[in-house]
Amino acid sequence: MKIINFDNAATTLIDETIEKEYQALLNEHFYNPSSPHRGGYEVKRKIDASRDAILKNLNLSKNDYKVVFTSGATEANNLAILGVARRYKNRGKHLITTSIEHPSVLRVFYYLRDEEGFRLSILEPDQNGIVSLEKLMAAIDDETILVSIMATNNEVGSLNDVEGMVQIIRKYPKCFFHVDVAQAIAHRKLNYNLFDLFSFSAHKINGLKGSGALIMKSKISLAPMIFGGEQEFGMRSGTEDAEKDIVLSSTIRLAIDKLNSKYAVIKTMHDHLYDSLVKLEDDIIMNSPRDGSPFIVNFSLKNKRASVLVEALSNAGIYVSTSSACSAKLAKESYVIKAMFADERRAKNSIRISLGYDNTMDEIDTFLNTLEKILKEIMQND
Ligand code: PMP
Repeated sequence: MKIINFDNAATTLIDETIEKEYQALLNEHFYNPSSPHRGGYEVKRKIDASRDAILKNLNLSKNDYKVVFTSGATEANNLAILGVARRYKNRGKHLITTSIEHPSVLRVFYYLRDEEGFRLSILEPDQNGIVSLEKLMAAIDDETILVSIMATNNEVGSLNDVEGMVQIIRKYPKCFFHVDVAQAIAHRKLNYNLFDLFSFSAHKINGLKGSGALIMKSKISLAPMIFGGEQEFGMRSGTEDAEKDIVLSSTIRLAIDKLNSKYAVIKTMHDHLYDSLVKLEDDIIMNSPRDGSPFIVNFSLKNKRASVLVEALSNAGIYVSTSSACSAKLAKESYVIKAMFADERRAKNSIRISLGYDNTMDEIDTFLNTLEKILKEIMQND
C-alpha cells in the first residue's frame, strides 16, 4: 500500500541530498572539532562555515547574530527562555507568552512562574488562533524582560503577526523577543532581523531528527543550560553533533528554495482541500482559519470521535494526526482548540492534516474520497 503522509507538521521525509551529505560526513569527517589535528580543524571549519551559511540564507549578518546548534526546537526554546529569564532577572521579573504555544515553551514558563518566582502573563488567542497586538500592548510593562510568541501555530496553522509585535516590544528596551518558528521557517516569509532570538528543528523541514538551532543576537548573553567543555559559546557544552550541525545549512537552503518555488502549489492544494472539507459533510467543523498557513488544516467532527476516523484513515494508508503529535499522547483534548473556541467536545475531536512539499493534488483527492467513504460507513454503523 502506498502511504499518503499528511502528518508533516509532526515530521517530514528526509531530503535525499541531505541524506547523502550526512552519510559522507559520517564516513570522512568524524573527528572531534576540538581536537588539535588537521582532522579536527577541518570539522571545526565546516561547522563554522555552516553557521555562516545559515545566517546568510536567513538574510542575517554574522556580526549581529549567532547560531547555537541544539537537538531541536524543544531544546532551543528551553535554552532561550530559561537563558534569558535567569540571566536578566535583575532587570525585571515579568514574562509574556500565549496559551497556544508548544509545550516546550509553555512548560518552561510555568516552571519559571511556579519555581523561580517570575510573574507570567499568558495571552489568549481569538477564534482564528491569533493573539492580537492589543493584548500584547496591554500586558507588557517596564518589568517585562521576555516575550515569547510562536510565528505559526502547530495545531491549527494560525499566523501571529510577530513582525508587528516587534514595534510594541521595541518600546521596552529591557525586553527581548523570542519567536518559535518551528512551523514557519520554510513555510512563511519572515524578516528574521526583527527577532532577538528564534528556534526551529531540522526534521520539520526535510532534515535530520535531533537537530535544530537557536539563532540569537550576539549581544544577548544567556545563562548556560549544559555545563562542561564550553562548546556552543559556553551555553550548551558537550562534543558537537558535527555532522548534523554541518548539514543543517543545506537543510535550510533547500527548504528556503522550496518556499520560493513551491509555496503557490501548496496554497492551491490547501484551498482545494479546505473548501472541499467545508462542502463534504455537515459533521465537519473547521478549526483552522482559511487564510492561515496553507500547510495545516485542522477540523473537528461534531458528532463522531476523531480517533475512530484517524484509525480508519491509517488503515487505508493515509496518515493524519489528532492534535499535535507531541501532545496526542499527553492530553485527551487539544488545549489550542479549547483556547480558541472554549468547546471541550470540539477540542477532543480535532483532526490535523499537515502538508509538505512532497504531497500532490492527487493525494488530496484520494484523501477526500476516502474520507467521504469512511464517514458514510461510520454513520451507517451508528
Ligand atoms: N515548537 C513547535 C511550534 C513545534 O511544532 C514543535 C514540534 N512539534 C516544537 C516546538 C518542538 O520540536 P522538536 O520536537 O523537534 O524539538
